[in-house]
Amino acid sequence: MTSENRCGHCLCGAVSFTARIDDPGIQACHCRQCQRWTGGGPLMSLRVRALKLHGDAAIAYHRASEWGERAFCKTCGSTLFWRMQERPIAYMAVGLFDDQSGLHMAQEVFSDCRAAWMHPYDGAEQSTEAQEFAKLDAYLMDQAP
Ligand SMILES: [Zn+2]
Ligand SMILES: [Zn+2]
Repeated sequence: MTSENRCGHCLCGAVSFTARIDDPGIQACHCRQCQRWTGGGPLMSLRVRALKLHGDAAIAYHRASEWGERAFCKTCGSTLFWRMQERPIAYMAVGLFDDQSGLHMAQEVFSDCRAAWMHPYDGAEQSTEAQEFAKLDAYLMDQAP
């Protein structure tokens, strides 16, 4: 799949979007925050760029950490996306997309936090909580003024 724009919307339709997808690989995040946020987890998402949101008034943001924020629809409660605060890159919940063709499971992060009743995905790259925090530290250092 080459880079392409796809659109999607929340359950009630108050929020819709178009976004560019450069990579068709789905990421599963097993962290405890995502488990609670999605009601079971993991958060299944696609990394998107050039996110254009419609229905801003219906979007609420929750900052569960110092660096991230989680967007959801105020009306229907749909999980929308996770992003670094004030950053253009977001991880959009894959179930919102109208067209999920051509996608595949690529990566499981916070893999050591995976619920005991859930199996890993065959062939998906695995990254633990410690590995993810090391990457985050490197990223935040890089972004420091
Ligand atoms: Zn909604
Ligand atoms: Zn997570």
